[in-house]
Amino acid sequence: MNNFGERLRDLALEWATAQDLYAFAQRLVQTPSLSTQEGDLAALLVEHLRALGFADVRVNAMGSVIVTLGAGDGPTLLYNAHMDTVAPGAPPGWPYPPFAGTIADGALYGLGAVDMKGALASMVYGARQLLPFADRLQGRLVLAFVVQEEPCEGLAMRYIVEEDGLRPDYVLLGEPTNLHISRGQRGRVMFKVSVSGRASHGSQPHLGQNAIYAAARLIFAVQLLADSLPKDPFLGPGTVAVTAIHGEGPSLNAIPDLCKVYLDRRLTLGETVLGARAQLESLISREDIPATVQITTYDEPSYTGLVRVAQEAHPAWVLDRAHPLVEALYQTIQTVRGSAPEVGHWPFSTDGVYTMGQAGIPTVGFGPGDPNLAHTPREAVRLDDLKTAAHVYAGLAARLLLPE
Ligand SMILES: [Zn+2]
Repeated sequence: MNNFGERLRDLALEWATAQDLYAFAQRLVQTPSLSTQEGDLAALLVEHLRALGFADVRVNAMGSVIVTLGAGDGPTLLYNAHMDTVAPGAPPGWPYPPFAGTIADGALYGLGAVDMKGALASMVYGARQLLPFADRLQGRLVLAFVVQEEPCEGLAMRYIVEEDGLRPDYVLLGEPTNLHISRGQRGRVMFKVSVSGRASHGSQPHLGQNAIYAAARLIFAVQLLADSLPKDPFLGPGTVAVTAIHGEGPSLNAIPDLCKVYLDRRLTLGETVLGARAQLESLISREDIPATVQITTYDEPSYTGLVRVAQEAHPAWVLDRAHPLVEALYQTIQTVRGSAPEVGHWPFSTDGVYTMGQAGIPTVGFGPGDPNLAHTPREAVRLDDLKTAAHVYAGLAARLLLPE
């Protein structure tokens, strides 16, 4: 075994440490942290990180928890996990209550187990393995546990890079990959199309112009457009879907003079936000529909009260397969697991829309848990996978930051 293989063996979690990791992941699931309500979880993290021996733990003005290890002049490697979860939705469907953090059959069940408190716990315990080597790190390892990723991916990372002034050289996102590698995702834009009409009494529709009928023409045209969007060989096709309509008129006995149509548009590689907007506007003018197009914005205050307005428009991104970050992660996983990981992409959107898509920082993904279980009542992550993930997180940081 080469030097690195030996070091990786040293970074494996002992049985007792793995038990601590599982108990910690369980506590994270038991601490509700819906988006904009992450304060309790942040407090728990700060307390636990300090108790483990991390000296540099702080909470930024937006409420994200930031941990720094090492002070070398070398590269900064940032591990990202979001603290927030979506809402659990109405029962039934959950095999165990969503906040119980039940451990059964070697797995942790509950809201956020997969997306992504399991990864967060593994990052903490992976970094913990490096604590004895902190003085020897050639660069810095930063853990960024961020707020509000679910409603507005990229928002909290933008704040860390642009307002806190912490610009990493490499980013690893712990969003679930089932212990494989993700090196990209499609982009996402949310369009709101306001179709206008003219109100009249419901008994005399010929005197008005029905905004819902005009919106129906738009919806049909969008459905046809969906079949003709470009396809990238790696990320797949761009997509478009109507996800909500709201007709509005003076009353239910009146012809509606406004109909809002919401479109979820996913951008594949080569498509741009501006291009997708122009495409939609030209479809509207071709069909002669009286409508205007807006990109929706997100402006919810964080749990600390900070507001940063963001457009819901995020580019697609892909990191080259041959990039040294992908290669280092690949080698680390292969050594830890004894088998080669698959290299693919996420079906959903992540904080990478900012780190790689906008800031151009090489970004890659690796996390425990099946991505298809995210945002479902079936969320569960294998305990063994949490341990493996922690080992890989420790190993990747050692590979990039610890000299031989
Ligand atoms: Zn997530």
